[in-house]
Amino acid sequence: MTRVFVALGGNLGDAQATLRQALDALGSLPRTRLVAHSRIYRTPPWGLREQPPFFNAAAELDTGLGPHELLDALLQIERAAGRVRDGERWGPRTLDLDLLHMDGAMLSDQRLTLPHPRIAQRAFVLLPLAELAPDLEVPGQGRVVDLLAAADATGCEALP
Ligand code: ATP
Ligand code: CA
Ligand code: CA
Repeated sequence: MTRVFVALGGNLGDAQATLRQALDALGSLPRTRLVAHSRIYRTPPWGLREQPPFFNAAAELDTGLGPHELLDALLQIERAAGRVRDGERWGPRTLDLDLLHMDGAMLSDQRLTLPHPRIAQRAFVLLPLAELAPDLEVPGQGRVVDLLAAADATGCEALP
């Protein structure tokens, strides 16, 4: 089994409900166990600002799936939640599931880059990830708590 961290996000429809359903779906994947999940955060849009606020969370999994099998499973869960890719980068979406880090995996090919290359720039990823793995060393980027300390978390708040 391999330890994995996944980022969840969404800002269309009932995104909080979608994130909860996505957590269930992650825990129901074959050869996979949901170890823990963070609280849900409300966060300002990133990259493309004129869109509704986002809801974000992180999940910790143990899985026997390989990296590309897991990516396929994440894309399948996104599609089931009504995700449509219309070509606009960082635009509004019902559900986004990113593979952040997989123990021992550093790779980059046409479909998958691990660790996710933009963790360090994103408070909306680091805040929930720091609940689960503050001391995690993200290869090539740094330790989660240090990255969070350097990130701009303005406007991000955990929901009760
Ligand atoms: P960002 O990658 O900056 O968070 P995004 O999540 O909006 O942007 P998407 O349109 O959801 O980008 O994904 C585009 C493609 O990125 C996916 O189809 C997938 O093949 C690829 N990809 C590469 N590395 C990863 C990763 N670590 N996790 C998820 N998808 C990845
Ligand atoms: Ca993303
Ligand atoms: Ca994505």
